[in-house]
Amino acid sequence: MLGPPGVGKGTQARRLAATCGCAAISTGEILREAAARATPLGLEARRQMDAGRLVEDEVMIGLVRERTAGPDARCGFVLDGFPRTVAQAEALGAMLAARGQELDVVLYLWVGEEELIRRLRGRRECPVCKRAYNPEGAPARDGRHCDDHPGAELRPRADDTEEAIRQRLAEYRVKTAPLVDYYTAAGRLRSVPGAGTVEEVFQSLRREAGCDRRVEQAT
Ligand code: AMP
Repeated sequence: MLGPPGVGKGTQARRLAATCGCAAISTGEILREAAARATPLGLEARRQMDAGRLVEDEVMIGLVRERTAGPDARCGFVLDGFPRTVAQAEALGAMLAARGQELDVVLYLWVGEEELIRRLRGRRECPVCKRAYNPEGAPARDGRHCDDHPGAELRPRADDTEEAIRQRLAEYRVKTAPLVDYYTAAGRLRSVPGAGTVEEVFQSLRREAGCDRRVEQAT
């Protein structure tokens, strides 16, 4: 899944993975977990994340290599938040080729920048399951607690401060947006507008990803 911060990649990647019967792998989530465990990698990553900067390519490539080799990724995976640079995309291509795997599709989810900023400012997450909520597009049932963890009060993500939001959008424009051309040239890109309800966007992504076809083939 390719797209700017706040466009809804995480929410949609989880749903797509559940539908296609494969693993959802979020690099942001891996880093936040490492930060919560206070591992050396996690502590360094937190500094970058809180400032809205990307973590080094080498670190990210190593993490993804390890995570995609896990048992739950054997039937395939949806990557959320990786690759974010051309170097990462090249490493992913080499990694898959070495394993005899193929990149099926790159889903490019997009909305305008004003809408992104609005979504990032309103975003809240469950501290337990990390599900993202938004008062407008995806509100929690009671507005304050996770639907699935009623004791968990929703909170903003640490990197959703005004300064970090600005920096992440700048990083996206310079380092990640070139991947749209990169994957268009490779004939892999499918562009999906991220406006609309979570359900509407999901149905468009599902069509473009060919999820139904994949599930049929596997059964
Ligand atoms: P996300 O949860 O995808 O919004 O990612 C949160 C933060 O984690 C980003 O702003 C980066 O600091 C870091 N991060 C996640 N994925 C990557 C990646 N592929 N390359 C570099 N930094 C990343």
